[in-house]
Amino acid sequence: MRLLIVAAAFAGLSSALPTQECCTLLSQLYPTKVYAPDVTAYSTANKRYWSSTCSLKPSCFFEPNTVPEVSAAVKLFSQNNCKFSVTAGGHSTIPGAANNDRGVTVAMVNFQQREIDNSTNIMHLGPGNRFYQAYAEMDKYNKVGVLGRYAQVGTGLLLGAGLSYLNNQEGLGVDNVKAYEVVLANGTVVTASRTSNSDLFKAMKGGGDNFGVVTRYDLQLYDRPATVLGGLITYGEAGMATLEDLTYDYHANVAPNDQQTHVLPNWGYNAATGLREAFVPVFYNKDVSVLPPSLKGWADAPTVKNTVRRTNSISALALENNEGYGNGLVQEQRTFTVYANKQFFHDVNALYLEWSKKYQHIEGFYTLHCNMPITPHAVAEGIRKGGNSLGLAGSKNQTLSVLYFGLSFKNLADTAAVFPAHDEFVESVKKIASDRGILHKYIMWNYSAYNQKVIEGYGPESVAFLKRVSKKYDPTGGFLRLVGGQKLPE
Ligand SMILES: Cc1cc2nc3c(=O)[nH]c(=O)nc-3n(C[C@H](O)[C@H](O)[C@H](O)COP(=O)(O)OP(=O)(O)OC[C@H]3O[C@@H](n4cnc5c(N)ncnc54)[C@H](O)[C@@H]3O)c2cc1C
Repeated sequence: MRLLIVAAAFAGLSSALPTQECCTLLSQLYPTKVYAPDVTAYSTANKRYWSSTCSLKPSCFFEPNTVPEVSAAVKLFSQNNCKFSVTAGGHSTIPGAANNDRGVTVAMVNFQQREIDNSTNIMHLGPGNRFYQAYAEMDKYNKVGVLGRYAQVGTGLLLGAGLSYLNNQEGLGVDNVKAYEVVLANGTVVTASRTSNSDLFKAMKGGGDNFGVVTRYDLQLYDRPATVLGGLITYGEAGMATLEDLTYDYHANVAPNDQQTHVLPNWGYNAATGLREAFVPVFYNKDVSVLPPSLKGWADAPTVKNTVRRTNSISALALENNEGYGNGLVQEQRTFTVYANKQFFHDVNALYLEWSKKYQHIEGFYTLHCNMPITPHAVAEGIRKGGNSLGLAGSKNQTLSVLYFGLSFKNLADTAAVFPAHDEFVESVKKIASDRGILHKYIMWNYSAYNQKVIEGYGPESVAFLKRVSKKYDPTGGFLRLVGGQKLPE
């Protein structure tokens, strides 16, 4: 099953060389930075993936330190038709996106730049950072950017979309990238921003890894109060019914009208206990000691634990959220988008629970469901800040909800029994959304599964634009042919 998925991720790579040759050529250039399977650094690199489905068998890992090294490597891959992948934080669950079998994997782990320019509020962030590191640097200056909410997630998030604490006010993560420094297929290093290669800039905001290797992100930061209110609220079965109503209210009323708020409702089903639980990061970007009326319902529902407090550390919030999300289990994520709808939210939760209960016998089985809003204001911010390739413009003046379906279990051997059924289940609820007229075409790159057609979901206009940009910056289609993951349609 895993091999089939990797093969699907690399469909169209028949001309790539499945060979050791590229690693040999690369190690002639950088003998101390290319790791073959028999060295410890190789196994360390191969364990940096969140999902065990992504710890594959590349012929070597390459860990460059400088932009010229990345440039020389990418040029070598293009000239020799070498299959390769790029990885930052290793949290994609698509096997073959950030790693591969019998190719080269470029791990950006050594790109650790974290530099804040106080006068412009821009942060220069190396792609090897995890978000708790980036937030820790911002915390020193009482600033915050639009990154993810989980400490260990990496900068790949800034190529797809990016759901985060400030979305309701500032738009998505990609909309708050001011510039990407990119190594193109021919090894040229360019800056993509509103004023330089602006077509590439727009394309990269959603176009993922189809255009080049990012060696630096310049991020817009925002001043924040000395303390904010934030923490994690957990609930047992007793809180469930209230949470469903709160989730809809957050989408329809709170997120659009009280833009300093952020809530991420996570509904879990634990097969080991047969019970549901919910854990909900709650955040308010104001220097106050109690939650505002718009968020009070989350604390008033029957809770198991509530850590919401005044804090000066967003890094600490990201670390708290990340507890229990360690590497090494089998993970799969799927997603689709609807216009927020109370009855549908309720029905999907009930259906996912019913489906999950069928797999109680799978060791370590756990499912997670979330509803995450993108408000009309967030969409408008994306346009105002230079546009992106997501195709969200023109959505009705209604909050969208990105629905997340995550499953996790222990043994790779169980993937064949569970993955296709998960796909079938998610497609079945998507059909219900379509029948009810609330389905939106958008599929968020960040949470997509290997066989979900993300780029097509951006719409024909965006697909045509992305293809034009690809032809211009990568005329021989190196990144389309040699790198796996979510590719532009043929
Ligand atoms: C526990 C968990 C929490 C999450 N929380 C959030 C959240 O709060 N908000 C949100 O929006 N998403 C979230 N995500 C989803 C996350 O955005 C994606 O998984 C994202 O792809 C992770 O990036 P990464 O660098 O960690 O992963 P990787 O697997 O290393 O990379 C992901 C993709 O980006 C490409 N890529 C990475 N770096 C580069 C580069 N420098 N140049 C070119 N291509 C590159 C890779 O090739 C791959 O295709 C979460 C995921 C998990 C598992």
